[in-house]
Amino acid sequence: MCGIVGYIGHREAYPIIIKGLQRLEYRGYDSAGIALYDGTNIKLSKTKGKVSDLKEKIENEISTKGTLGIGHTRWATHGVPNDVNSHPHTSNSGDLVIIHNGIIENYDSLKQELIKRGYTFQSDTDTEVLINLIEDVKKNENLKLGKAVQVALNQVVGAYAIAVFDKNKPNEIVVAKLGSPLAIGVGDDEFFIASDASPFIEYTKNAIYLEDEEMAIIRRGKDIKVRKIQNDNLVDPYVQKLQLNLEQIEKGGYEHFMLKEIYEQPSAILDTFRGRLLSNEAIIKMVGVEDNMKKFLAADRIIIVACGTSWHAGLVAEYIFEDLARIPVEVEYASEFRYRNPVITEKDVVIAISQSGETADTLAAIKLAKSKGAFVFGVCNVVGSTIARETNAGAYTHAGPEIGVASTKAFTTQITVLTLIALRLARAKGTMSSSEFRQHLIELEMIPAKVEEALKSDAYVKTIADIYKDSKNFLYLGRGFNFPVALEGALKLKEISYIHAEGYPAAEMKHGPIALIDEQMPVVVIATKKGHYEKVVSNIQEIKSRKGRIIGIVTKGDTSVKELADYVIEVPETLECLTPLLTTIPLQLLSYHIAVMLNKNVDQPRNLAKSVTVE
Ligand code: GLU
Repeated sequence: MCGIVGYIGHREAYPIIIKGLQRLEYRGYDSAGIALYDGTNIKLSKTKGKVSDLKEKIENEISTKGTLGIGHTRWATHGVPNDVNSHPHTSNSGDLVIIHNGIIENYDSLKQELIKRGYTFQSDTDTEVLINLIEDVKKNENLKLGKAVQVALNQVVGAYAIAVFDKNKPNEIVVAKLGSPLAIGVGDDEFFIASDASPFIEYTKNAIYLEDEEMAIIRRGKDIKVRKIQNDNLVDPYVQKLQLNLEQIEKGGYEHFMLKEIYEQPSAILDTFRGRLLSNEAIIKMVGVEDNMKKFLAADRIIIVACGTSWHAGLVAEYIFEDLARIPVEVEYASEFRYRNPVITEKDVVIAISQSGETADTLAAIKLAKSKGAFVFGVCNVVGSTIARETNAGAYTHAGPEIGVASTKAFTTQITVLTLIALRLARAKGTMSSSEFRQHLIELEMIPAKVEEALKSDAYVKTIADIYKDSKNFLYLGRGFNFPVALEGALKLKEISYIHAEGYPAAEMKHGPIALIDEQMPVVVIATKKGHYEKVVSNIQEIKSRKGRIIGIVTKGDTSVKELADYVIEVPETLECLTPLLTTIPLQLLSYHIAVMLNKNVDQPRNLAKSVTVE
């Protein structure tokens, strides 16, 4: 989600931190800040915007002297990107300072407790809650910083990579990790802390990668003590020799950002439902939905407006909302909607989907819908984006920055958010029994692990890509929940490999596209169990009779399609409405590998921009 950097040693910390933040900017770029210890005090400078904005500001604002410091480049999850919400955050006493990458799920209940005890908060972040919790524990129990961090983290639910220091103990930085990455560079009498090794690669090749639930006390000129957060067990840290170059590190060892983002989907989906899906309590908690439940329940219909991949996520949502919550849904291209004088009333709920939150056509559609009195709900990835501000309410996807132009993790996290909303409404409307609801929550909770399993098909998908990479056309077919996945699969291939591809509902094939099929035509068919399976198998028969080449996306253990298809790629079994989250994975990988084999610029395909801010 964001980038963190820290330094403690004999060099000036500032140049190392600012350069490190620039290298980590791919991880987050809505605001940035640095805290330095100047020998007597903490000097802090932070700003909304890029690291370059911070660089300009900081040198006029504070002395950048000091051999201990921490810095952050943010990708907001709690509170819009502005100066105050930027990290580092200090505790109420001003003694402790923190940088944090991740989400504290139970920040609100912790905050209420701290407020009762007299704490005040400047920002809207979950992070400021954490640093005050550490301070509270430290004071009340008279603990050293390391112990206080440990005790506080044991009260926290969520994900974090943090670095904390105390101005009264300026020879020590405490770091900890759960769910977000944290690397420690080990130099001669100096230590570096960062989200990945890129900020310190030129200073040292020795790195310790903390494991989840580990923390470390790093002491200037001395040693590092690594221990478990849950108990006091010491861990013998494994010091790795780094082999990667700078660019490889930024891409997490992947060749392209797109591949990295495909592989980030298990954690991105988890972050999307983190704190919202509470399967033990059998509830879904989404403030934007809860606060506007009346509007949702009174809605005659939901209109979804979006463009590109987000439009495909909207189509998946149409099936899900109608099936689970029994609310009629229409899905519109924002660019058409805005110009065709649509019939919208005050009883309509409009859901606008956009990764960047800046898509011009979607924004215009929102304005139109609002002017007609509809209630508009946004689903965006970028916190504080224009669409997030222009809508009446919304829910973020929390996918983290998506750098590859071809959207991957944005798609699956949008579907995740929309599924959560549909489930919540289904429960409120009583269209789903409590046991069905609970079963859906449990299944959704298992999706990250199942995506992980689906990713294991990568090497096999690559061999299929090699076989079909020179095809001039592709057809993608799916039915029901997986029809939009077929559209998305075709779009991915077009976007990055420039091969013509069409997505179609499998049964529609007979009404036209079947004429295209011959022995040259690869046809990717999504044929998972349940979703009109027999019907899709018949469609596969029809393709086979016309000598089309069949690549089946099937449920693990499938035998029928295997007999007919040239190749089958398996995905784990799940509830039918959740299959798009799995079937889309091999399609992303297929387009990725074909594009790489054809030597295309995967992360920046020709003619495309990451966010389309013009009409
Ligand atoms: N949850 C924190 C915030 O919104 C950290 C987000 C991040 O990882 O950048 O400030």
